[in-house]
Amino acid sequence: MARYIFVTGGVCSGLGKGIASSSIGMLLKSAGFKVGVMKLDPYLNVDPGTMSPYQHGEVFVTADGAETDLDLGHYERFIDIELGSFSSVSSGKIYKTILEQERRGDFLGKTVQVIPHITDTIKKFIKEGAKLSKADVMICEIGGTVGDIEGEPYLEAIRQIHHEEGSKNVIFVHLVYLPYLASSKELKTKPAQASVRELRNSGITPDIILCRADSKIKSEHTKKISLFCDVDKKSVIPAPTVNSIYEVPLNFEKYNITNLICSHFNIKYKRPNLSKWKEFLALINSDLPKTDIALVGKYNQLEDAYLSVVEAVKSAGYANKTKINILWVDSEKLEDKKKQKEELAKLKKAKGIIVMGGFGNRGIEGKIQAAKYARENKIPYLGICLGMQIAVIEFARNVLGIKDANSLEFKKTKNPVISLMEEQKKIKGLGGTMRLGNFECILKKGSKAQKAYKKDKVLERHRHRFEFNSKYKEKIQKAGLEIVGINPKTKLCEIVELKDHPWFVASQFHPEFKSRPTKPHPLFDGLIKAAVAK
Ligand code: GLN
Repeated sequence: MARYIFVTGGVCSGLGKGIASSSIGMLLKSAGFKVGVMKLDPYLNVDPGTMSPYQHGEVFVTADGAETDLDLGHYERFIDIELGSFSSVSSGKIYKTILEQERRGDFLGKTVQVIPHITDTIKKFIKEGAKLSKADVMICEIGGTVGDIEGEPYLEAIRQIHHEEGSKNVIFVHLVYLPYLASSKELKTKPAQASVRELRNSGITPDIILCRADSKIKSEHTKKISLFCDVDKKSVIPAPTVNSIYEVPLNFEKYNITNLICSHFNIKYKRPNLSKWKEFLALINSDLPKTDIALVGKYNQLEDAYLSVVEAVKSAGYANKTKINILWVDSEKLEDKKKQKEELAKLKKAKGIIVMGGFGNRGIEGKIQAAKYARENKIPYLGICLGMQIAVIEFARNVLGIKDANSLEFKKTKNPVISLMEEQKKIKGLGGTMRLGNFECILKKGSKAQKAYKKDKVLERHRHRFEFNSKYKEKIQKAGLEIVGINPKTKLCEIVELKDHPWFVASQFHPEFKSRPTKPHPLFDGLIKAAVAK
């Protein structure tokens, strides 16, 4: 039987509930418990797949092909688990489920209502998630802020789970913010108290309060919160802003959160084994030499839009004893003669270049320039998804001389080196044409990719519609851009690499989703090794 930890947030959004949930999960897993995690988001999109990265950051893709919230990336990286579509629930998904049942007549003429139908469905998703992940402890993060109208059904649902499962089997963790007033030089606890009161209105009393603040939290503050919010003093845990998100679990553990959780659940306390994590943190906090890596994308400086790539490249850096300095290269500026100067300087400075994934033709020519620069100047290159397609287009245009080589996504051309599979062409509209989630890839013996993986077959996650056009396979390979990874079933191209280059590897899949802080992904590791060697 699973026990549940529900994580809510108060005062304001953006406090890091995702990091807090991930950190708790990481500690419990390190103590030997089987952990499950899920994110419940109150918005009405069915999933974040269609949301703009400006709104929602990156879309994290799970092994089973669900397009999910970026917090799932934090969970996977911190806890080192593979999640599935059940780990991502939104109001859109809940409503869709219910409305489909209603249309089928499953409700037998009853009025369909928020209470009990929405709340029951939320509970069902949570309990199924716990079962599917075979969790000892299921951590459920409730998106949004306590007090939001759209979050109310979720609070009611978790209140009911508390009632059904018993208070010994449920922990409510509430994350609050303590603002600092510069004029009076004080940290204020009143907004936190108000948010706990708001939570109480929904019938939920927190068991643990995590206090975020940008300045020092003193005992007087936690005492106040303990007294006014009716929570044990030892369960009011300071969560000051730290240097690196990876410090958060250690900070929680300083206040014995694992022990608190075990004693609440009445299960035997096991000390989390954090030695690997501490080694990794020591690297983060040490004075390592820096390596400049250019990330070429259209969402310039928007770290959240490329979160998993940023984390993957940093992890690979630490594994190679170097700190990655990211140079954000705006692909739209790069293609504009009047604006490209600064961007070109960044490419020149970089020891490695990553061309990011993406959809639509904004900034495409700039990305092609970046790939050309990396190829010609033998700068280590990693192309991710669109970054692979770009490498192929660039090669076809500038090495094979096929001037109108392009992707069908961007232009109708006589030479679509990136195209759609025949069966995809028949489908109208965009829905249902994406290749999502895990697919196998067979690696060519002796290739750079195969040597980096030290394996012959890998499983990697995909999120794309267009493919390398096999009509051009022979020509391209002959000229030196080799296909070194193929899907064994469909024979689709998964990885290309340049023969005569220190490291020019590009994949149709997204390696970043499988990178972990202490286990960097082989393709990122390969890039950084080559960059450091340079
Ligand atoms: N737009 C490209 C495609 O759909 C690449 C997608 C991506 O980079 N994720 O195939």
